[in-house]
Amino acid sequence: QGHSLRARAALGRHSFYQRSSETEELQTSGSQEFGVTFTDHMLLVRYREGRWETPAIVVRRPLELDPGSSSLQYGLQIFEGMKAYRPDPAGPETEDVVRLFRPRENLQRMYRSAARLALPLFDTETMLHLIEEYVRTEADWVPVRDLPDDLRPVSLYLRPCLISTDARLGVRRAKEALFYVIASPSLGGYYSGADPAGVALLATDEFVRAWPGGVGDAKCGGNYALGLVAQELAHAEGCHQVLWLDPERNVTEAGVMNFFVVTSAGEVLTAPLGEGLILPGIIRSAVIELIRGGSVPAQANGQPWQVVERSLHIEDLIRGIEDGRIVEAFGTGTAAMVCAVAAIKYRGRTYRLPEAADNHQRLSIRLGKAFERLLFDPGRETSAHPWIHTV
Ligand code: PMP
Repeated sequence: QGHSLRARAALGRHSFYQRSSETEELQTSGSQEFGVTFTDHMLLVRYREGRWETPAIVVRRPLELDPGSSSLQYGLQIFEGMKAYRPDPAGPETEDVVRLFRPRENLQRMYRSAARLALPLFDTETMLHLIEEYVRTEADWVPVRDLPDDLRPVSLYLRPCLISTDARLGVRRAKEALFYVIASPSLGGYYSGADPAGVALLATDEFVRAWPGGVGDAKCGGNYALGLVAQELAHAEGCHQVLWLDPERNVTEAGVMNFFVVTSAGEVLTAPLGEGLILPGIIRSAVIELIRGGSVPAQANGQPWQVVERSLHIEDLIRGIEDGRIVEAFGTGTAAMVCAVAAIKYRGRTYRLPEAADNHQRLSIRLGKAFERLLFDPGRETSAHPWIHTV
C-alpha cells in the first residue's frame, strides 16, 4: 500500500478533495478549479547586495513587499510551471517516490526569462536542489491516481517565481529580488471540461501575444495579462482558448500551449522557435523528440511521422482543414500535456477538424499515452528514463 495510503491521507486533507462529487461536477462543467488550493509551505530565497542569501522553506503566508517594488510597477517578474507526479501504486515493494518531468529545462528556461527581464541570474542546479527539498517537504500533497480507471493527470503543480523587490521608482535592472516556490494540487487537465473531441480555438487578428524582438519566449506575467481580454473574447465566441497569430498572421500558440498540426502526408508542423514569438515548451520539445525518436507508433500506413518546424499562415491552416490536408491539431503544455483541437474559428466561421475513424490512430492520443506511461508507470525502467527526475 505504501505511498498509496499516505497520498490518500493527503487527498482527504483538504475540502478540495473531500467533496468528490462536487469535484466531479467541476470536472465535467469545465470550471476546473485549478490553482485555488495551496500547500502548507513555500520556498524563499532572497537576492540582496549582489548575492543570493540562505534559502528557507517556511509556512506559506503573504509576502511583505514594498508598494514601490518594480515587480509591481513595471512587471519585473517571471515564473515557471512544472508538476510533481506520483507513480501508480504497484504493490508493497513500490518505492515511495515523486517524479518531476525534465525540471532542469524549466529552470534553464527560467534563467533565460530572468536574463530577458533584467532580473538577477541564479545557478539552475542549486535551485533544482532547493526545489527537490521543497517537493520532499510537500510530498504528502502529491496525489495518487484513483486506479484503475482514473485517467486524470493528477499532480502537484509547482510554481517557481522570481520577482523584483527593488523599491525604487526609477526603471532599472532589479537589484533586489525574491525567488520563491509555491505549490497547488491539480486534479485534472486544465481543459478537462472540454468536449473529448478537443477544444475550440478562436484565431484572432485583433490581439497579438508576441512580436519579433518581444518577450513571447519568456515566461513573464505580462504575456498572460495581455491575453485576458482575448481569452474573454474567445469565450464569448463559444471557444475555449485563443489561437494566437503573429503580426503576419502565422499561427503561433494556442492559449498557454504550443500548437501542432498533422497533415495527411504524415507531417507534424509546429512554429519554429526564435525571434521571441514562441515560448519554448518543455512538452513541445518532448513531443518533437518522442516523434523523431520513433517512440510513438508510425502512421497507419507504416510510414514514420515527420516533424517540421516552420511557420503556418492562418489562411493555409484553414484551407488545409477545408481540403482535408490537415487532419489533426493539438496543443501541448504541462497543464494538459496533449490537448486535442476539435475546431478553429476565424472571422466568424468555424472550421472543424475531421473526426477520427479510430481515435487510437490519432497522434495526439498516442502522444498522450506515451506521457501517461512516463509519468505514472511505476516500473523501474520508467523511473530510470532520462526525462524522469526522481525525488
Ligand atoms: N506557451 C505558453 C504561452 C505557456 O504559458 C506554456 C506553459 N508554460 C506553454 C506554451 C507550454 O510550455 P510547457 O510545455 O513548458 O508547459
